[in-house]
Amino acid sequence: MSDNPIHFNSKLPKVGTTIFTTVGNLARVHQALDLSQGFPNFEADKKLMELVSKAMVQGHNQYATMPGYYGLREVISRKIENLHGASYDAETEVTVTVGATQAIYTTITAFVHPSDEVIVLKPAYDCYEPAIEVNGGIPVYLQLKAPNYQVNWENFQQLITAKTRMVIINTPHNPSGRIFSKADMMRLQEILKGTNIILLSDEVYEHIIFDGREHQSASRFKDLASRSFVCASFGKTFHVTGWKIGYCAAPASLMKEFRKVHQFNVFSVDHPTQRAMAQYLQNEAHYNNLSSFYQKKRDFFLKGLENSRFKFEPSAGTYFQLLDYSQITDESDENFAKRLISDYKLASIPISSFNVNRRDDKVLRFCFAKKEETLVQALEILMKL
Ligand code: PMP
Repeated sequence: MSDNPIHFNSKLPKVGTTIFTTVGNLARVHQALDLSQGFPNFEADKKLMELVSKAMVQGHNQYATMPGYYGLREVISRKIENLHGASYDAETEVTVTVGATQAIYTTITAFVHPSDEVIVLKPAYDCYEPAIEVNGGIPVYLQLKAPNYQVNWENFQQLITAKTRMVIINTPHNPSGRIFSKADMMRLQEILKGTNIILLSDEVYEHIIFDGREHQSASRFKDLASRSFVCASFGKTFHVTGWKIGYCAAPASLMKEFRKVHQFNVFSVDHPTQRAMAQYLQNEAHYNNLSSFYQKKRDFFLKGLENSRFKFEPSAGTYFQLLDYSQITDESDENFAKRLISDYKLASIPISSFNVNRRDDKVLRFCFAKKEETLVQALEILMKL
């Protein structure tokens, strides 16, 4: 195709190749073991796949209703009520989305006007900032620090101005594996009380939380819930990230505004998958057993690293583990991650790519949502370092 020199101003001038693409390409070239990408390398439950096939054969192949198949929204509403004691009306307060990514993008697009400020805690998952910027919003950062990534709420409070439209949080947190305690959520609630600020609570790892801890959903805290979009992902919970299905819950007046955007950029989500999810979710064990399933993987991975030169705090949630390599080398995390791929055939993600000004705490992120044999191979490599 000849390149017609059409001039335009990019809406996202800073977006280039992401670290995921760079690392993924390098891993392919070197045929490295891939613990960089955040998805399982084992299969989902066959029962769930059968339910999708059945829904197709039964003829659920045309558009679902705009906010999602009602039967699924009902089960979601019941699940939130059972887990968090919060009541969301399935008709007006729950919307099924194309993964959490779309829930996040649509929330930001529905509410952030040019020059509105959105507070983002760094390191942060990489879909928040482009969504803010494409809408003309301004991300305002609070950088958290290794190894505990705790929020200093006084510093957080100082970032709030008359222009603050939204705050984005993520618990359990990718990439750090840290979680917000009840005290954190209470403090956040106190700070936001009386303001017009919307909270976007990214809770995609809600069912992957370890050592008997409880997930502190924003929906549990009355005042927070009244200003929150709680975003979730079935991809993460049921090992089907490729199906791209999730949902969000919010009070009716906020959800009404969300749906104004949703109906024109998505309209409705894959119908047979929604039918299948509605049935599969009836069995609470399908999500309540997920924490113990992943805790075994985390423990296996960390036990294997006991006598290594890596330092770590066990992940408290998500399927990611951070490893501090400062006793091995003082090279930058990006260089070390690249060298691990080329020289040792193991891929991970350098955390500086999620930080403000590429702050380098000498930590790499490893995904342990992998078969045991993959973890064994990874451990063999890591123990050589
Ligand atoms: N938020 C976080 C923190 C994530 O890690 C991910 C997936 N990597 C998402 C949102 C996106 O979820 P989904 O695949 O359902 O769009």
